[in-house]
Amino acid sequence: MEKKPFLTKAQAEAIIRDVPTPFHVYDEKGIRERARALNKAFSWNKGYKEYFAVKATPNPYLLKILQEEGCGVDCSSYTELMLSEACGFTGSDIMFSSNDTPVEDMQKAYQMHANINLDDLTHVEFLEEVAGIPETICCRYNPGGTFTLGESKEGFQVMDTPGDSKYGMSEEQMVEAYKKLMAKGAKHFGIHAFLASNTVSNEYYPALAGILFRLAVRLHKATGAHIAFINLSGGVGVDYRPEQPANDIMAIGEGVRKQFEEILVPAGMGDVKIFTELGRFMLAPYGALISKVLHFKHIYKEYVGLDACAANLMRPAMYGAYHHITVLGKENAPCDHKYDVTGGLCENNDKFAVDRMLPEMEKGDIVYIHDTGAHGFSMGYNYNGKLRSAEVLLREDGSHQLIRRAETPADYFATFDFTPFFKK
Ligand SMILES: *Cc1c(COP(=O)(O)O)cnc(C)c1O
Repeated sequence: MEKKPFLTKAQAEAIIRDVPTPFHVYDEKGIRERARALNKAFSWNKGYKEYFAVKATPNPYLLKILQEEGCGVDCSSYTELMLSEACGFTGSDIMFSSNDTPVEDMQKAYQMHANINLDDLTHVEFLEEVAGIPETICCRYNPGGTFTLGESKEGFQVMDTPGDSKYGMSEEQMVEAYKKLMAKGAKHFGIHAFLASNTVSNEYYPALAGILFRLAVRLHKATGAHIAFINLSGGVGVDYRPEQPANDIMAIGEGVRKQFEEILVPAGMGDVKIFTELGRFMLAPYGALISKVLHFKHIYKEYVGLDACAANLMRPAMYGAYHHITVLGKENAPCDHKYDVTGGLCENNDKFAVDRMLPEMEKGDIVYIHDTGAHGFSMGYNYNGKLRSAEVLLREDGSHQLIRRAETPADYFATFDFTPFFKK
């Protein structure tokens, strides 16, 4: 599908008059529509709830929009719990899915009455020791081996290797964990698993649901535990590339419903609530990194240098991930120039695109890097003394709002105490 910016050049220029580039901008209208579509797709399930994965885009203004659309939050750390608390998420509005969990994080989640998702069998005793055993508790499952869905019509294969992943417990460990937890007073149980990331396939969630629903029936039979919810976690992806098909959330919801009717209802478990913890699917398309062209360079290849770098968007450098690029105002110009689009880090992997066909560019051109709304700003870092950028919200009425200011050098130096250097 053709990838279109949610922002015109004129709108970008209006923002740039207030907020210098680079910055991430988010589309309120798109976010709300996406949340409504997701809730509609799972409306067949009475207790359905999306717990937005805070780590994808930890900004309170965006969390508030999702909260207004009925979403909860999925937290993985102490500070994410604090952020969620500040936004007014409480108790069962929160999933706490952590691993290698520090004591303070576990205690905070317990005190907030979050749904705690245990990553390991040893965390049963750990939780009891540092906090207590709540009545509702979740355990994370890892089936091991390889997870494949086969190739889609378009040639995109879904494959991942749970057997190599550090998360979750085996089925035997799940049984043991449930038994121990029941003996310690737990009454209602959840199951969670994350088997494949960024899947562009309507089959992932239904296949995962089939695996987890069958597991739920076996766990219930083996332990007598009441399975209250099944959390399909994250992993529903987005079409970063123009040639990729987009996921169809209505088809995904319907696929999960079929598994539910086939497996859980006949087992007398039709009261199970379905939860999701989507991050990327919710926000990635509704964020963009806006940057300006600083320099050109011709050596053995043509380079165009931006005022943004991998410290603002790490995915291309870290995973070789594709992010589509549009030069604002040149949407209809022919893409007849081949560029490497770079940032200024002293790292040769600091390239937003390699050998990308784009319109002829000029200094000062405004570059729109697509699909940065999740795992974009949040993966930023300060290498080379680069400062984190601002975040801006494009409101539904077309106005814009600064929802996080850019860092200043004072922020960068805030963790040093310079006083010893100035003593006489
Ligand atoms: C990262 C993560 C998510 C969100 O993943 P997406 O790929 O953004 O959908 C959900 N749950 C857990 C436990 C995660 O670690």
